[in-house]
Amino acid sequence: MIYKRSSELFQQAQKVIPGGVNSPVRAFKAVGGEPLFIKNAKGPYLYDEDGNKLIDYINSWGPMILGHAHQPVVDAIIEKTKSGTSFGTPTEIETKIAELAVKMVPNIDKIRMVNSGTEACMSAVRLARGFTGKDKIIKFAGCYHGHSDSFLIQAGSGAMTFGTPNSPGVTEGTAKDTLLANYNDLDNVNELVEANRDSIACIILEPVAGNMGCIPPKEGFLEGLREICDETGILLVFDEVMTGFRLAEGGVQERLGINADILCFGKVIGGGMPVGAFAARNEIMDYLAPVGPVYQAGTLSGNPLAMAAGLAMLTELHENPEIFKSIDEKTEYLHKGLARVMNDHDIKHTINRVGSMISIHFGDKPVYDFATSAASASLGVFNKFFHGMLDNGVYIAPSAYETWFISEALSYEDLDATINAANKVAKTL
Ligand code: PMP
Repeated sequence: MIYKRSSELFQQAQKVIPGGVNSPVRAFKAVGGEPLFIKNAKGPYLYDEDGNKLIDYINSWGPMILGHAHQPVVDAIIEKTKSGTSFGTPTEIETKIAELAVKMVPNIDKIRMVNSGTEACMSAVRLARGFTGKDKIIKFAGCYHGHSDSFLIQAGSGAMTFGTPNSPGVTEGTAKDTLLANYNDLDNVNELVEANRDSIACIILEPVAGNMGCIPPKEGFLEGLREICDETGILLVFDEVMTGFRLAEGGVQERLGINADILCFGKVIGGGMPVGAFAARNEIMDYLAPVGPVYQAGTLSGNPLAMAAGLAMLTELHENPEIFKSIDEKTEYLHKGLARVMNDHDIKHTINRVGSMISIHFGDKPVYDFATSAASASLGVFNKFFHGMLDNGVYIAPSAYETWFISEALSYEDLDATINAANKVAKTL
């Protein structure tokens, strides 16, 4: 494939935008090479500036669960735009989307809209701290909750050590309130809770992880966390930015039958517009300003265009719940196809999948936490696979640490084309 115009645009962009991108992973740094500049997209396909057509498995990192430029979403945005783009006042559509979200998601009474997943998680943690009167949080290595300071924390040398910042600009003062645990390791969480009794506000996690590849919670892991929280008064925060409105109408809470205390949303809830949200039962949400003392705000929060896109998206999903089954089946088909190809070529691999989240790790060991994910990524096979797939017209996430997001717009022909591409690429690995 030719990427001439993308390459030119990338050179231009780097002069005025740091690294040429407005979000780092877009720059292909992990896999090498230069990013494609996308001109337009429809359904399951992306079209780049050189006219290449690609089958898309990123889907804007999750939001486009029904494919690109989905007509009801596009129509809703266009229609709404005609009446003005922002007022900074309450509008009826904010109540409509809140009512629908509360209906779709179990165990929540109220929801507050923000502009990104980062804001949702940051606000959820502030709320948890305000509600409990405690300062520390437990997060898991390899879980991503946006780029707010408290979350950019690397593993310390042992389970009991305080976190140290892994980005300059995050203060040690902030880092010391974030305790790091290993995903799927309840003993580790118990140790941290024991060592920090009475000072932990919440445990935050991706209940199905997608930021170290797709990593499902082991049986009993989420239940164990729920028990720990029930015994200690620590709040359980599910970051459902990826999983919400994707793994089921009601996200992981519905799919796996476990309730959290605070939920964070993003991606699908905005239908491709910049939206995040956090939600909980009344007792907790009423701690938020203007009712309660915990401050949280936003000039463009609940923006009418964003709400129109989100409402159109959630309405489609709510009225057609068979979509969730359909994308799960498509993803299972892809899973089987990829596994067959890799087995045919004797390529060591592990495919993890939950519903329409799937990823492939090249290594023969099970991948169940950050260390096991990193061990397989370090083999370097993924990067070759990524570029091979791209050259064959398939756009997967440009990093071994990302899940793929399947959209309902993908046809079985697209899936077969993808499996055929993988077959060609596998010969070269
Ligand atoms: N939480 C999770 C689980 C995410 O995957 C992401 C983004 N990929 C975020 C939070 C942050 O969302 P945003 O990029 O919209 O700030």
